[in-house]
Amino acid sequence: MVLPYGKQSIDDSDIEAVAAVMRGDWLTTGPVVDAFEDDVAKVAAVEHRAVSVTSGTAALHTAYAALELQPGDQVITTPLTFFATATCAMWQGAEIVFADVSADTGNLDPESVAQKITERTKVIAGVDYAGHPIDAPALKKLAHDNGALLLEDAAHSIAGSLNGVPVGSLADITTFSFFPTKNLTTAEGGAVVSPDAGLVDRARLFKGIGYERKPELMDEHGGWYYEVTSMGLNYRLPDVLAALGSNQMKRLGQFKTRRQEITDRYNDGLAGIDELILPAHREGASPMWHLYPLRIQDGRRRELFDHLREGGIGVQVNYIPVHHQPLFQQLGHTKGSCPVAETYAEQEISLPMFPDLTDAQVDQVIDLVRGFVGA
Ligand SMILES: *Cc1c(COP(=O)(O)O)cnc(C)c1O
Repeated sequence: MVLPYGKQSIDDSDIEAVAAVMRGDWLTTGPVVDAFEDDVAKVAAVEHRAVSVTSGTAALHTAYAALELQPGDQVITTPLTFFATATCAMWQGAEIVFADVSADTGNLDPESVAQKITERTKVIAGVDYAGHPIDAPALKKLAHDNGALLLEDAAHSIAGSLNGVPVGSLADITTFSFFPTKNLTTAEGGAVVSPDAGLVDRARLFKGIGYERKPELMDEHGGWYYEVTSMGLNYRLPDVLAALGSNQMKRLGQFKTRRQEITDRYNDGLAGIDELILPAHREGASPMWHLYPLRIQDGRRRELFDHLREGGIGVQVNYIPVHHQPLFQQLGHTKGSCPVAETYAEQEISLPMFPDLTDAQVDQVIDLVRGFVGA
């Protein structure tokens, strides 16, 4: 059996929560969605109810739409991400500008962003790589000083925090993913949160196909009345999946603790080996470790990857730099333009990381890695 690099943790209460919705009156948008949106808002410490959507990708598209991104606008983002961080902005007609990352965390480097800002910059889109929060205070200040807003792609980092401020309250708008390998799952799902009521309203309108049923207009015209006021999409998360999400929320704290324990165990087991770079943890950050991003130097990543795969360990690479992808090459982005991210991406290998991973399994991975480097 291959040990996966990431996996959901499902218990009987999760199954029961979903089954209970299946037996009820609602399958899609009903009271369970509202409750889940309250749960997400609570973890993110935002006042306005979260806007749940069908995936992390849909959350990004919804957030960019809420930010009223349009053709001519530029979005500065990181190449060290799942490519949807960039392509969802392109659906709104925006142009992508890649800035480089910091060598320690792999997160967007505010100094590199500062060099790329123009009067066309509308959004800075950072990613909490591996679950470590971005330098949101610096990036937000840069954005606001230049008439832009900060989006945080927190697909990796729900329940993380920086200087005591929960992820979700750090940026102008934040997106989550609830894909099975992420930190909490609804099978497929995502959410958008913001401290700004206007952004939340626009996000809700967009994911609800762009139409409104206002009580005062229904009084005037009749109970059937609605108005289409914008172009939206149907990105509604159904009650069936929200039920899984709310039930998973009960164990979110446990998931975080276990992910930190696994990180500590890898850190201890792999310490002091010259060829390896272990994940950094900045002061003030409380990461929600989604990945364990090990880096191996001397160009041996491919060899280590094959060695671990042959040993039954389902390692992964996060990520191929987005600007190296054919789509972005065709748009004129050049290799070599983000050297820190490119080096990071060449060296990175994600070791198995999920709450149900046992200490013995972690030790097995450590032994295989140590054996490979001859430590
Ligand atoms: C997973 C992920 C997404 C997309 O989320 P889906 O739920 O898979 O659509 C976006 N950004 C990042 C950084 C991700 O890891």
